[in-house]
Amino acid sequence: MKRLIKNGTVVSAEGAFQADLLIHDGCISAVGQDLAVDGAEVIDAAGCYVLPGGIDVHTHFNIDVGIARSCDDFFSGTRAAACGGTTTIIDHMGFGPAGCSLHHQLAVYHRAAAGQAVIDYSFHSVIQHVDEQILEEMLALVKDEGISSFKFYLTYGYKLNDTDALRALTRLGQIGALTTVHPENDAAIAARRTQLLAAGHGAPINHARSRPLECEAEAIARMVNLARLAGDAPLYIVHLSNGLGLDYLRLARVANQPVWVETCPQYLLLDESNYLREDGLKYILSPPLRLRSELEKLWGGLIDGSIDTVATDHCTFPYQQRQQMAQNDFSRCPNGLPGVENRMALLFSEGVMRERISVSRYVDLTSTMPAKLFGLWPRKGNLAVGADADIVIIDPRRSHTLRHSDMHDNADYSPYEGMSCQGTLVTTLSRGKVVAHEGQFTGAAGAGQFLARKPFDLALVQHGPFNSTTGV
Ligand code: MN
Ligand code: MN
Repeated sequence: MKRLIKNGTVVSAEGAFQADLLIHDGCISAVGQDLAVDGAEVIDAAGCYVLPGGIDVHTHFNIDVGIARSCDDFFSGTRAAACGGTTTIIDHMGFGPAGCSLHHQLAVYHRAAAGQAVIDYSFHSVIQHVDEQILEEMLALVKDEGISSFKFYLTYGYKLNDTDALRALTRLGQIGALTTVHPENDAAIAARRTQLLAAGHGAPINHARSRPLECEAEAIARMVNLARLAGDAPLYIVHLSNGLGLDYLRLARVANQPVWVETCPQYLLLDESNYLREDGLKYILSPPLRLRSELEKLWGGLIDGSIDTVATDHCTFPYQQRQQMAQNDFSRCPNGLPGVENRMALLFSEGVMRERISVSRYVDLTSTMPAKLFGLWPRKGNLAVGADADIVIIDPRRSHTLRHSDMHDNADYSPYEGMSCQGTLVTTLSRGKVVAHEGQFTGAAGAGQFLARKPFDLALVQHGPFNSTTGV
């Protein structure tokens, strides 16, 4: 079956141009002016942008965090993603039983996603301890399983110490893998949390006060230096929330170190005053929301090129469950925010339509750079002949208001409730099939395929200098 998307503005990370796209057998088979094909089903994209489908490289579907399991599984999570213009997700695995192998969690996640996902998907492996066996096993994941990125944490139950962080970074750098890190200083957070709770400060705002931005920035600076010491191991910092951490990463960039950084819509759009609302528990996640002044620093990073990707960290626990579990203690509330359905619309509206970033930069942040960093390029993140026909069509003339009642996740709220977006997602195609149209899900469970990813390729993602004269 052939589909022809006509009259739209096709956008890549390099530029935008008027063109028609022909889709055949799930791939893009032609790009050009005035294509006419007998028997093709025509989608008229006049006045609209035709973009590579979103790639969200930070989700947590079906995650068991020990005290609770998130309410979105690989069906509802990818359904919401598809309705929000995202056509590929890479999920960060949760921790398994103490001492388990890397293959153990990989098998758990394959079982959870198979037959469920409605769009294509992959996983980041998780390192919860380091020993000779784990270091050996990493190579098998890269070579045989198509898993070329790994994550470890510097806080929570399975945090790595500096010795193990160095061993992991060194090994991953040697075998063609990208190390991703959740950076927060565990000792500083634990001390503050203990003090606050002992003094009876259990309200949601104390979640933010227990983990100030220095906790995150310190861990970022430490990881940057350890990665350097590990022989310039490629390093990717997840969910950056503050300007000081970004400044440390800029210093590393200036020194030509291979480091990349992701931020998320919640850190660009929501500030810590949300913790003072009556329903402040809805906003508990880590790192926490920051002061409004930090938001502008992160926008500066999108504008000047020093932030590389925007992902969501989608991890859903219903408000009702948060209230039941937290009572009057913020530290008992499960962490995480919904958002997989809102990333593309929010960044388009707040970034492109407000003229902070170009539409090409938008494509790079949401799709092309994620594909290049995580071994999916040129099949994904790309509207060239031969690439998968993963496409989102956005009409910049239309606007809409975000309502959780219109969304497709399993949570009972949205942190973006009531926000208005200029620019509306009209149609999402996954390998040529329409999986969402006009806010309605039209895909099917199990249509998504596991993506075996290629090893990390430095040549694809080597930075030019960021533009230090703007936006800082
Ligand atoms: Mn995290
Ligand atoms: Mn996360």
